[in-house]
Amino acid sequence: MSLQVHSPLSSVERVTGLRNLVGNTPMLAIDCEFRGRKRRIYAKAEYLNFTGSIKDRMAAHILRRGYETEQLQPGALIIEATSGNTGIAFSAIGRALGHPVVIFMPDWMSEERKQLIRSFGAEVRLVSHAEGGFLGSIRLSEELAAATPGAFLPRQFANDENCAAHERSTGPEIWAQIRARGVVPDAFVAGVGTGGTIMGTGRFLRAQHSAIKLHPVEPANSPTMSTGHKVGKHRIQGISDEFIPAIVKLDQLDEVVAIDDGDSIIMAQRLASELGIGVGISSGCNLLAALQVQEQMGGDATVVTVLSDDNKKYLSTGLMQPEPVKDGFLSSEVKLLRFRALNRMCDACFDPTDPDGAPVHLVRG
Ligand code: PMP
Repeated sequence: MSLQVHSPLSSVERVTGLRNLVGNTPMLAIDCEFRGRKRRIYAKAEYLNFTGSIKDRMAAHILRRGYETEQLQPGALIIEATSGNTGIAFSAIGRALGHPVVIFMPDWMSEERKQLIRSFGAEVRLVSHAEGGFLGSIRLSEELAAATPGAFLPRQFANDENCAAHERSTGPEIWAQIRARGVVPDAFVAGVGTGGTIMGTGRFLRAQHSAIKLHPVEPANSPTMSTGHKVGKHRIQGISDEFIPAIVKLDQLDEVVAIDDGDSIIMAQRLASELGIGVGISSGCNLLAALQVQEQMGGDATVVTVLSDDNKKYLSTGLMQPEPVKDGFLSSEVKLLRFRALNRMCDACFDPTDPDGAPVHLVRG
């Protein structure tokens, strides 16, 4: 038997080879009681992505666009500033595609995030509060990119391709999965880190259904979007960094929803301990925000959100510690009952030439 000789894959073909590991996640229909009434919230199981978070969608898309526009050459250094999941996504996907990766991140992010990024062969450069924290990480990443010929800087906070990733994948998937239930989504709710999820998913959903409400979510203890600047501290890693990112257009969104970080921790803990859904703190936050929005819309509204990442990056954080219940916590009024995982999209729905995986009949009409 002779060995088959394979011609080398192009970079775009290598990203396409990862397609079945990124996106096309199941939709969970989570049944609960809220304030004594039966409720259902739909939530995309984004923790099932390749590296365990929704950020894989953005990383794979931005790298593919980098190849297509020739701004990213094979083997070039990838440099990004991130609070964690983006770093994990670029490190793993970057390595899968044969790139070295340098990640700048604030030094107060969880130990698991730093170790995971290192485990994927990337270099982590930690930035203290004194060095500027998050904004300092962005500045340092830009300085390194400027000093390194050929380096690729995804710039997730300012790059519209971050939104485009969700416009081409998360949005169409949600639309198709909810439409298959015979309903349309009345609202989409998502915690804002870079804002790529809410802006891009929202853009697609609003183009299908102009009356949809799009609610960005932030921590009540550190409300950057409603105040315009960084105030206070919070523990919902991945959202509300220190500023309003350039890609977030609040005038295209509905009201900002504010959720307490302790409340979010309790909700995430209970998703794991009562339903077996092991997710991070921002997922608990998103579920509470979705219930609050649904309550305002009359209780029967079809509200969709995302479970952005899994709980494995939080083993050393408050997510694994007892969290005191405070007056006014929404989680105290939630009784989780059960959930069902709705179908992923079938393979035939996808255009094999589109590595972002948007369902053919929605995008091509
Ligand atoms: N939750 C977690 C855990 C995240 O890491 C992120 C990304 N920073 C988000 C939510 C928010 O996603 P986006 O950046 O698309 O706004």
